[in-house]
Amino acid sequence: MSMETTTNRADGDVLLRVENLVKHFPVKSGKLVPGERDYVHAVEDVSLEVRRGETLGLVGETGCGKSTLARCVARLYPVTGGKITFDGQDITNLSPRRMRPLRREIQMIFQDPYGSLNPRRRVGSIIGDPFSIHRTARGEDRKKQVQHLMELVGLNPEHYNRFPAEFSGGQRQRIGVARALAFRPKLIICDEPVSALDVSIQAQILNLLSDLQRDLGLTYVFIAHDLSVVRHVSNRVAVMYLGKIVEESPVDGMWAHPRHPYTDALLSAVPLPDPDHAQQRERIILAGDVPSPIHPPTGCRFHPRCPKARPTCVSTEPELTPRLGDESDHVAACHFPVEDGEDISLSKPSIAEDQRVIESGLIAGA
Ligand code: SF4
Repeated sequence: MSMETTTNRADGDVLLRVENLVKHFPVKSGKLVPGERDYVHAVEDVSLEVRRGETLGLVGETGCGKSTLARCVARLYPVTGGKITFDGQDITNLSPRRMRPLRREIQMIFQDPYGSLNPRRRVGSIIGDPFSIHRTARGEDRKKQVQHLMELVGLNPEHYNRFPAEFSGGQRQRIGVARALAFRPKLIICDEPVSALDVSIQAQILNLLSDLQRDLGLTYVFIAHDLSVVRHVSNRVAVMYLGKIVEESPVDGMWAHPRHPYTDALLSAVPLPDPDHAQQRERIILAGDVPSPIHPPTGCRFHPRCPKARPTCVSTEPELTPRLGDESDHVAACHFPVEDGEDISLSKPSIAEDQRVIESGLIAGA
């Protein structure tokens, strides 16, 4: 995919802008006060931009909020707070009627190609759904358009009348891509589109997405937990942890100089093709589990697991800022960013176990 520089572009280059986005889900709580509820803080104060024609990779562990963020952007979930601007228009609270024409321009591709296709419907009818829903083509015209889409994604148009079960996993994901392309959307959100596929098939789908981006001028938000996949497809990468973006950078800068200890730990787990290089590298094992998003830790949300944590990290939340000497477009939310050549697998947190706030109001070991 195109790797043009993404800095210093005019504002018109920005297709999607997310500002201070918040998404909370109410959950049943054991509280004694009637009407009081707990909330899962799935996305907390997230801001990002996606420029036209680029791919923004969004990575993080399962449950970090990346898919929720994507669904908020696609307006599949209402947001709790913040603002979403798409193609210059504030879409945060658009009514379903006013959102309808924009639905053509923002499409999603999902992780499980089989789960997202109705097994009882023929593929031609599934891919043709958008034309029916928006009443833009019918009969022979619709069939012609669907077959053109099938060709575009490398499917045999003669298989128009087959059922999803008659296709392989990779072909089923191509069906999902074809359906997303029906109206030539401006933005496609790919939510773990290759995670359920074999490695060899993954490469085919990634190459297809890359070719389509080049030929159709598409813009992608690409969500994955596999960093090697994200590296292959993205211009810029944002790393999420417990509902927050903790680091964002052009892809090469992130790989060469991860600044957030969490990013460093994720990268240390990526398999290297060179066995000598792989042997030299220390894998960073993080302590503990991801804390509850209902009562996230105080200060830096990563502090209960961070090998570099210090008292400041418990009390003060770090902001996304560039480390002194780094490019301005490489930002990390860390009071003590990882230095070049630093091996954080040797670091030990300088806060006592009983000072670590596992959840707001809950001290480790208390
Ligand atoms: Fe670790 Fe502190 Fe940086 Fe958070 S702010 S990532 S706890 S060093």
